[in-house]
Amino acid sequence: MKKIKVGILGATGMVGQNYIKLLENHPWFDVVYLAASTNSAGLKYTDAVKGRWQMTTPIPKKIENIKVEDVSQIEKAKGKCNFVFSAFEISDKNIVKEIEEKYAEAGIPVVSNASANRWTTDVPMLIPEINASHTDIITTQKKNHGWKDGFIAVKPNCSLQSYLTPIYALNKAGFPIKRIFITTLQAVSGAGYPGVPSLDMIDNVVPFIGGEEEKTENEPLKILGEIKNGKFEKNKELKISAQCMRVPVSDGHLACVSILFKNKKPTKEQIIKIWNEFESVPQDLKLPFAPVQPIIYTEEENRPQPKKDRNNDKAMAVTVGRLRECNIFDYKFVALSHNTVRGAAGGGILNAELLVKKGLIK
Ligand code: NAP
Repeated sequence: MKKIKVGILGATGMVGQNYIKLLENHPWFDVVYLAASTNSAGLKYTDAVKGRWQMTTPIPKKIENIKVEDVSQIEKAKGKCNFVFSAFEISDKNIVKEIEEKYAEAGIPVVSNASANRWTTDVPMLIPEINASHTDIITTQKKNHGWKDGFIAVKPNCSLQSYLTPIYALNKAGFPIKRIFITTLQAVSGAGYPGVPSLDMIDNVVPFIGGEEEKTENEPLKILGEIKNGKFEKNKELKISAQCMRVPVSDGHLACVSILFKNKKPTKEQIIKIWNEFESVPQDLKLPFAPVQPIIYTEEENRPQPKKDRNNDKAMAVTVGRLRECNIFDYKFVALSHNTVRGAAGGGILNAELLVKKGLIK
């Protein structure tokens, strides 16, 4: 198969660097276009990231000399790439929304990590194991804007990736959950680079991440919602209460979760079986970035741990452990996912693979 030409917006940042690393040997995608802020524009990629390349493998040879463009100069990407991954950060989200829409208008599909379009009514927020069918809204989105080839699809915040697939697996198996109480322990790489000042992180936990609790509580309602009359309708049965902490861990977000079932609760053995046997669309379609087993239950009483479990199955699997009865809700457990891979670049790549299989990225 001839490879699909890909651009990365925000290629110099933490998520952009992860895209470059993960796409180095991708069987379908070929990185040909890089863009970032005006600070990096005009520089060779190696010069643009000098002193701030965060990956543990070298910059791929093919990428080193690519000239970085300015994200806002959309015309430079035209004719060069078939679609772009969006991972640039601007504090005014309206500007991000506007730029992503301009790429779509120019006929370039946008697979985004940014939050700017997550609540746009005709934009799908995808975790392919959960809501692959939400890509159906893209026809309506294109019609609403008069776009022929371009469109926008987003992935949710990294904070909810660790626990939402295990919740969905139980819903799907006939045990719907109506209340979730969650505390996340989130890695520093989630704040990008240079991120949180080192003096705030060493010997410390910061009990606040701006906007994170709202995202953790609300985004699952869209993901578990449905398309009605050309718009997303939120799931009305589920309520989530979240607290989000920044902890001195490099990669891997942990979530301590308590759940209450709507009806009869399953046994502990049933839950573990449901999780370990769970498979979905990415596994059926054999997407290159799909984990073979999306949820791995670990029996060891002191796991999952970020350092030891974040890289399970190409860092794309969710690892769950410590399932036990809860004195207030039904059960509690601990879940872990790699925030910059499953929760960011790897999740974006899986979304793009799904969109290719559905014929939306050509
Ligand atoms: P980051 O390390 O701070 O990188 C920011 C990127 O945005 C850089 O490439 C930077 O380019 C570019 N940028 C900054 N100002 C810009 C401007 N005015 N115009 C165009 N580009 C600009 O941030 P990150 O962690 O990679 O996050 C990127 C996006 O992914 C954010 O929307 C974030 O919320 C989302 N996300 C991050 C994670 C994670 O785990 N880190 C997870 C999920 C989602 P220069 O280098 O030229 O300044």
